[in-house]
Amino acid sequence: MNVRAKKHLGQHFLKDEEIAKNIADSLISDTYNEVLEIGPGMGVLTKYLLKKDKKVHVIEIDRESIEYLETAKKVQNLKINIIQGDFLKIDLKTLFPNQQFAIIGNFPYNISTQIVFKTLENRHQIPEFSGMFQKEVAQRIAEKEGSKVYGILSVLTQAFYDVEYLFTVPPTVFNPPPKVESGVIRLTRKKDFSLPVDEKLFYRVVKTAFNQRRKMLRGSLKSLKLSDKLREDPIFALRPEQLSVNSFIELTVKIEQDGNRN
Ligand code: SAH
Repeated sequence: MNVRAKKHLGQHFLKDEEIAKNIADSLISDTYNEVLEIGPGMGVLTKYLLKKDKKVHVIEIDRESIEYLETAKKVQNLKINIIQGDFLKIDLKTLFPNQQFAIIGNFPYNISTQIVFKTLENRHQIPEFSGMFQKEVAQRIAEKEGSKVYGILSVLTQAFYDVEYLFTVPPTVFNPPPKVESGVIRLTRKKDFSLPVDEKLFYRVVKTAFNQRRKMLRGSLKSLKLSDKLREDPIFALRPEQLSVNSFIELTVKIEQDGNRN
């Protein structure tokens, strides 16, 4: 018996074995022994993950999928840790107290950006992350400055990870087919993934700047109460999409050091 696809859970089951294998094989690092798959559904990706030399954990919110996986686990004697729950609510530090682990999935598209933000929060334990998003989101994460879709998600992710857009997947290989194309990306944590500035301030600067994408930083960052002297710096005549990730970090350093800020 197959699981009936539920729209509100973002369920689009992958039918193409070759693509499932390619996604599983997109994890290539040997810096961890544990893998967490988000939203395994009926386990099309999971079965290729189990061929790797890693301990596999899956977290799935859907009861019916959980029953399907539990049966497969029993019948095929699979070595797998099945967790029923919401990835966005689970405490990753309890599940992986000290270990490094990877995240992978054909993600539920309705929570895909939240999955990325949770990964960034837990980056100290996540050296590699790969998976499928709706194509537009995958591009947004991967694009560099100057691109129309370069934004908050791109800057925050690329501050800590190198991003590769791997391949595009058409709607026809899913059941039911989604309305949009999908894209698979890989994040590889940078060697130095600490920031030389206060992280909260960095997030605030990036988000505030992109909230008014068309404006020069001089205008959009007004709420940060910068000194007149700092606002004369030529960087404030730029719009956010013109700033590289490193420029955003440098900008935050300047703001942090701005004496008159309150
Ligand atoms: N990996 C499977 C299913 C992809 S569809 C395949 O490729 O065929 C996305 C899956 O994520 C669904 O099984 C859905 O039930 C699950 N899901 C949705 N929201 C979730 C959440 N918050 N936490 C964990 N799993 C979730």
